Amino acid sequence: MPTWRCVKQCGACCHLDPTDRPDLEDYLLSTELALYLSMVGDDGWCVHFDKATRECSVYDDRPRFCRVEPDVFQDLFGVEPTELNDFAIACCQEQIEGVYGDRSLEQLRFEREVGIGPISNIDL
Ligand code: SF4
Ligand code: SF4
Repeated sequence: MPTWRCVKQCGACCHLDPTDRPDLEDYLLSTELALYLSMVGDDGWCVHFDKATRECSVYDDRPRFCRVEPDVFQDLFGVEPTELNDFAIACCQEQIEGVYGDRSLEQLRFEREVGIGPISNIDL
């Protein structure tokens, strides 16, 4: 069974451009929305995203809305903990497609590492 995990060298969900996420107001508290918008850099990427390493520079202190955790997703999106795995996989695929492309190296690597598709044995 495919199992969600965050793969290294991705960072697609750190591309925060609000024009790509028109429903932010539907699930973020007003204080969280203000924080979110304050984190968007001129190029649409989070100001805390290190593009050289593709890692979060404030990982241990990242906001609640950056955390793929059962209580967070239940509260923000109404996703039951038992549905989190499939929901998170779909979210990542959508985000990676939007940022890097559907057949990008990042998408292929993600699908391989979570156990989707026919390429799970190919070294990317
Ligand atoms: S899109 Fe998914 S795999 Fe990529 S950095 Fe975000 S959580 Fe990790
Ligand atoms: S705070 Fe970190 S995890 Fe959250 S969007 Fe910015 S770089 Fe990504």
